[in-house]
Amino acid sequence: MTDILFERIALIGIGLIGSSIARDVKELGLAHEVVISTRSAETLKRAEELELGTAYTTSAADAVKNADLVIISVPVGASGSVAEHIAPSLKPGAIVTDVGSTKASVIAQMAPHIPQNVHFIPGHPLAGTEKSGPDAGFTGLFRDRWCIFTPLPGTNAEALAQLRSFWERLGSRIDEMDAEHHDKVLAIVSHLPHIIAYNIVGTADDLGTVTESEVIKYSASGFRDFTRLAASDPTMWRDVCLHNKDAILEMLARFSEDLAYLQRAIRWGEGDKLFELFSRTRDIRRSIVQAGQDVDAANFGRPTPDAKP
Ligand code: NAP
Repeated sequence: MTDILFERIALIGIGLIGSSIARDVKELGLAHEVVISTRSAETLKRAEELELGTAYTTSAADAVKNADLVIISVPVGASGSVAEHIAPSLKPGAIVTDVGSTKASVIAQMAPHIPQNVHFIPGHPLAGTEKSGPDAGFTGLFRDRWCIFTPLPGTNAEALAQLRSFWERLGSRIDEMDAEHHDKVLAIVSHLPHIIAYNIVGTADDLGTVTESEVIKYSASGFRDFTRLAASDPTMWRDVCLHNKDAILEMLARFSEDLAYLQRAIRWGEGDKLFELFSRTRDIRRSIVQAGQDVDAANFGRPTPDAKP
């Protein structure tokens, strides 16, 4: 049985996500040809040095010619211009997908440009790190992680099944939902935590009474766990905030209400309310571990002082 799923795959954008896909495709032998395209000559050169594909070009339009699968892995704010640029060169019958962290906006930007004879299936792998660029990618990033498709009405079932097989080979579990629902779910599980992290790290940075060196020195008390999220790519997260505005503002409003409740409980010494909330949230951590979405290791598995290297 051959491992080849697509004769030719074009990867547009070769940062953390694009290069992780490239590494898996190469390791698993899922395509004969992998054409890599990125806008800067510098990133393209790095992708070539890392031998992530079989051909390299800064022209996305050239990259997609004759490609059976096109995966767009650029910041969500750039997805419309990329779609417009590649549209005339897409092969009839090709599948075009993306990995963007917001879906309604990506569909609104891309769908008007994609020709009728091409299957456009928006997607979002829920996997990543705070690093960016082609060096940040690694094989197995998508293993045991969810990949959400937000197919448009009337999507070709065979194309959907082919894309599903592709992500399953990368180790992902697949879910399908509509784009608006995706954007609400991601607003709470991903976008709000990042905004809170950016905010708390920013607040600490602005504090006049505690010096920056103290914040860094004592960061293991909790602060440093926020800094991982707050070190995420500024371009990507600016675009996520601007392109999932409504859902994020809705979740922020809920968050602010709940924070006011907590603030009041602290002010009035209502320990029972604090205890009830802190017990409930501890159970959520247990459920995440049970669902295989994290390991049950203290302190996120960071080595303890007496652990062997
Ligand atoms: P990344 O490492 O920063 O790589 C971004 C890629 O997009 C690079 O190839 C870059 O090209 C290109 N690019 C940047 N701005 C562009 C523009 N205006 N027009 C065309 N190309 C542009 O980003 P990433 O982390 O792989 O994220 C890519 C996508 O995946 C984003 O839509 C993000 O929402 C989504 N996503 C990210 C994560 C995560 O944890 N990082 C998880 C799931 C989904 P040059 O380097 O040549 O400029």
